[in-house]
Amino acid sequence: MSRFLVAFLGALSLVPAGQAVAQQPGAQRAATGKPDSQLPVALSAHIDEQPDRARLVLELSDPITPRVFTLANPDRVVLEMPEMLWRLQAADKPGRNSLIRSYRYGQFRAGESRLVIDVNAPVVPSAPTILPPQHGAGFRVVIELTPTTQAKFEESAGWPSDLRRRESAAIEVASIPSLRATTGEIESPRKVIVIDAGHGGIDAGTTGVDGLREKDVVLDEAMRLAKALETRGYLVHLTRDADVYIPLRERVKIARSANADLFISLHADANPDARISGASVYTLSERGSSREAAALARKENRSDLVAGVHLSGQDDKVSHILIELAQRGTMSRSAHFADALVRELSRTTDMIARDAHRSAAFVVLKAPDVPAVLVELGYLSNTRDCRELGEERWRTRTAAAIAAAVDRHFAPEQSASAAALAIAR
Ligand code: ZN
Repeated sequence: MSRFLVAFLGALSLVPAGQAVAQQPGAQRAATGKPDSQLPVALSAHIDEQPDRARLVLELSDPITPRVFTLANPDRVVLEMPEMLWRLQAADKPGRNSLIRSYRYGQFRAGESRLVIDVNAPVVPSAPTILPPQHGAGFRVVIELTPTTQAKFEESAGWPSDLRRRESAAIEVASIPSLRATTGEIESPRKVIVIDAGHGGIDAGTTGVDGLREKDVVLDEAMRLAKALETRGYLVHLTRDADVYIPLRERVKIARSANADLFISLHADANPDARISGASVYTLSERGSSREAAALARKENRSDLVAGVHLSGQDDKVSHILIELAQRGTMSRSAHFADALVRELSRTTDMIARDAHRSAAFVVLKAPDVPAVLVELGYLSNTRDCRELGEERWRTRTAAAIAAAVDRHFAPEQSASAAALAIAR
């Protein structure tokens, strides 16, 4: 092991992951709108650039002391910490001439998180300094990077000896290049979200009191949602990004072949009773759906007929088998997300008067392995809803609410995601 590592490994001690967040003053921020958890929470990351050095400040709910070591080729600085929830509200990007090229973070393996700083030039990291909560901020871990020579960097770089054996088996994973490492963008375990703008092309869907067409509203909303989710680090696919019709089962196929972690189908409803208004969220159910919900499903499922897509008996049989296979896990994850969605949407828009989360047999929700919801954004047959659905501001706000629900849905799972393995190196 290098002298450099020996110098400060001895001074560090790791805080156990099970430490109670609630007892820490910094945890108050984590409690606002965050899931209950015993895990420490990473709240923000800031980069402080000086002409001759760069400082990374990680704000945490708990006073955690990371173990810091460097790895060469590509040159990087690794902060090893106990498992935590990554809920960075603010995450600075490095400047153009920074010593820091980019950084990424996430769970490394059960019980362990990492933040990895990719550097543009050889550096020496300082031992981490822990600052107590102040001015409403939580505990802060400060790492300072100062320039050094390539020779010195390489001399001190390497796995700490206790990790070396463990890591050698995983070197292949480590060599997978990170998708965005060169762009300086933040990386985190990326969930795949498929957004489905309902209808399209020949099938206009519902038409509003002022001529607003469902297919146009939902396409625009899908684009806004895609942008909001991409900003939050999700990998997003759209079933359509233009005014074209995509058969319902094709939409399901798109979700499955993208290995989607979540499928969100966007629609707008209409009702002969113009007084009915508000958004609602649907999950799949073959039975037990209310008459209203079943009627809506029939209406949305008619989409293929409207578009002139040939429905063979084979397709129906296949979809039936898929339903049979539908795992309880997928159903419960769908319901979990639907509940998060109802909560977030109700902050920004009116919800339907009762049972905002409903279920029925929608064809687009029938992938057995992809948690899926269908959102009826509002009623185009209602004057006020129709006005809102036509507003830019409402659309942006609603897209943000849906994106927040996606965050809420994945928050606990994120920390347990094995997909993070390749990221945090
Ligand atoms: Zn629709």
